[in-house]
Amino acid sequence: MTKPAPKDWILGIHAYVPGKSAADDGRPLIKLSANENPLGTSKAVREAFVAATADMATYPDPAAEKLRAAIGAVHGLDPDRIIYGTGSDELLHIAASAYAGPGDEILYVRYGFAVYDIAARRVGATPVIAPDKDYATDVDALLAAVTDKTKVVFLANPNNPTGTMTSREEIARLHAGLRPDILFVLDQAYAEYLEDGEDDGGLDLAKTASNILVTRTFSKIYGLAAERIGWGYGSPEVIDILHRIRAPFNVTTAGQAAAIAAIGDSEWVAFSRTHNARWRDWLASEVAALSNHGLRAVPSKTNFLLILFDGKLTAEAAMKGLWDEGYATRWLPGQGLPNGLRITIGTKAQNRAVAAKLRAMAEAA
Ligand SMILES: *Cc1c(COP(=O)(O)O)cnc(C)c1O
Repeated sequence: MTKPAPKDWILGIHAYVPGKSAADDGRPLIKLSANENPLGTSKAVREAFVAATADMATYPDPAAEKLRAAIGAVHGLDPDRIIYGTGSDELLHIAASAYAGPGDEILYVRYGFAVYDIAARRVGATPVIAPDKDYATDVDALLAAVTDKTKVVFLANPNNPTGTMTSREEIARLHAGLRPDILFVLDQAYAEYLEDGEDDGGLDLAKTASNILVTRTFSKIYGLAAERIGWGYGSPEVIDILHRIRAPFNVTTAGQAAAIAAIGDSEWVAFSRTHNARWRDWLASEVAALSNHGLRAVPSKTNFLLILFDGKLTAEAAMKGLWDEGYATRWLPGQGLPNGLRITIGTKAQNRAVAAKLRAMAEAA
């Protein structure tokens, strides 16, 4: 041996590809590629963040006591059963490492969140992919893919990059069909975009089930992606295990303060949700009007649309054309969707510009 040898399973990982913020030639672009809140961060959150930067010499609260209390109060959850992470990403990774390793399988859907593949491979587990049903989650296919080796099931609901939603009944049926020794990680990164009555019931199920971890993030509707804060809710046993391996001091002081303000700012959340729903529906109808050019938007419950290009205009050409208008979107060949472009719902002006360019390109192709 002449040099350190990485583990075989690490060599199988392709690093996560973040949403672009520049074109290939370096031109800066408006990011509609990472599902951030186009309206930004609320004033109350920015003020709380700035105030909390007064003391930077002291480590943050390692127990995130006030943050857990605030989350518990808003969602009616026991704060002792809440864990926090450097983004919900950290929680997805530690869930995989606590419960799976070489020889085990980690299951998720085709067109699932890109991090699941990395989280599985990172711990030496084998990723197993269940087929989709017209881009949406197929609970029967997931259940059929379970084997004796399955240790963790990851499911984003609503899902990224498809935007599709699995109903409360289907989530309950999936959970009921999983052996109790399989950890079901229900990733609700976009849950705050759902309307009343659309909730998938995951937090309720996790109150009594011993094998569910629900994860949430402050990176999307709360407009705090820069601060890297996520949280999770599960049984006391699962939460205890995850605390053993999360990084110490994994959420910063100012991040904790900002997140507390964010979860308390229900007005900003409602404003962002209403804006998103209105423009998501508008953009979807603009795409529907281009169906004769082979464009189709997958039905979305999130703050983005997955648009499929099956006519003369390709997804790659559409992405490049949108660069010329100043916009970055997410082309998804690496996730098995070479005909797919994921576009975050933006401001009114951004949505109008994107729709106009799509129309011009589709008609000219
Ligand atoms: C954006 C996103 C997350 C959030 O990740 P953070 O690490 O909390 O920023 C998690 N899951 C899915 C499916 C996402 O799209």
